[in-house]
Amino acid sequence: MKRCYSILVLLVLLISACGAAPNRSSGLPRVLAVESFLADIAQNVVGNRLTVQSLIPVDADPHAYQPSPQDAAKITDADVLITNGANLEAFLGPILQNSGGKQRVISASAGLTPRSDPSGQNPAGDPHFWLDPNNVIKYVENIRDGLSQADPAGAAQYSANAQKYIGDLNSLDAWVKSQVQGILQARRLLVTNHETFGYFAARYGFTIVGAIVPSITSGAAPSAQELAALISQIRSNKAPAIFLETGTNPQLADQIASETGVKVITDLYTHSLSAPGGPAATYIDMIKYDVTRIVGALK
Ligand SMILES: [Zn+2]
Repeated sequence: MKRCYSILVLLVLLISACGAAPNRSSGLPRVLAVESFLADIAQNVVGNRLTVQSLIPVDADPHAYQPSPQDAAKITDADVLITNGANLEAFLGPILQNSGGKQRVISASAGLTPRSDPSGQNPAGDPHFWLDPNNVIKYVENIRDGLSQADPAGAAQYSANAQKYIGDLNSLDAWVKSQVQGILQARRLLVTNHETFGYFAARYGFTIVGAIVPSITSGAAPSAQELAALISQIRSNKAPAIFLETGTNPQLADQIASETGVKVITDLYTHSLSAPGGPAATYIDMIKYDVTRIVGALK
């Protein structure tokens, strides 16, 4: 019996060594990013020094995410937790309170000024900073600075990696601008599932015609009056398309399309990367994929 128990303990130790704590044996911090796109951004900063894990599975919606007990354990086990901030991850509050606050939390968007929520329901403002690559430069700087404090021996490497990746983000911004020039100004019109593209629109000269869920979160359902108002906005602006993110139920968009004749694009990656090997497996590929779909639908 005692021997069985020892084997069981050994197994549990082995499993936890394989699963949750890839950086523990090296003495390096265990870094967990909440969203998959944040994990990719952070991985570019840490390079080959350590591996950044991500918490929310691909295609899951952070606004509506229900953490499992395993998620809570992963968070408690992390030395550094990277969040988007601006109240995107409302589910984190109780877990962080229970975990005793021992992990360093890097809020990637700290220092950026949020645009206000058009619905007025979210005092923290619009959290979708990352859909403008210029805001992600600030994310990179915050992640670099936070990790350099958690792991001072890696600071020079983090700084060099961050500088290179910021160069890639500047190139991405120039690429988006060049692509958007292919759309007539009068057709740079966005209708989305919820208010996701505010920062993107401001940077690249789009007008937000409206959203099916007129809020910066995805949870609410629109009233009949709100839907009717959106349909009349789409008609008066001659918006060519509705853009949904992967995983969104297209029923309301299809209903609006049948009344207005707009196209429905159902596969933008906005809150999550694609699975590895998919069309949006990195943050930079996610932006390129979305811009290509938007330009294709509005041209
Ligand atoms: Zn959102």
